[in-house]
Amino acid sequence: MCDNYSSEPINVDIFLKPCPFCGSGAYCYIIPPHKHMSYSKTGEGLQSLIPDYAGGAFVECYGCDVGYAGESPEDVAAKWNRRAE
Ligand SMILES: [Zn+2]
Repeated sequence: MCDNYSSEPINVDIFLKPCPFCGSGAYCYIIPPHKHMSYSKTGEGLQSLIPDYAGGAFVECYGCDVGYAGESPEDVAAKWNRRAE
């Protein structure tokens, strides 16, 4: 599976406009930095499939699965709200 570190999404309470595509509500969450423990076997041995995750913030729509990623809740919420206008 993914990793051995805590990477549970944490919900963030921040103002978000409705989805620009379907009009549904949206929600914001962050994923803390963590390491991935997924490896694949190659000719040179085990290679990490995914680099260490530096953490990020996300907005996703409840209705149509459209999503946005950013560096912080404020960053991603600003992107989302700008797009929704
Ligand atoms: Zn939507």
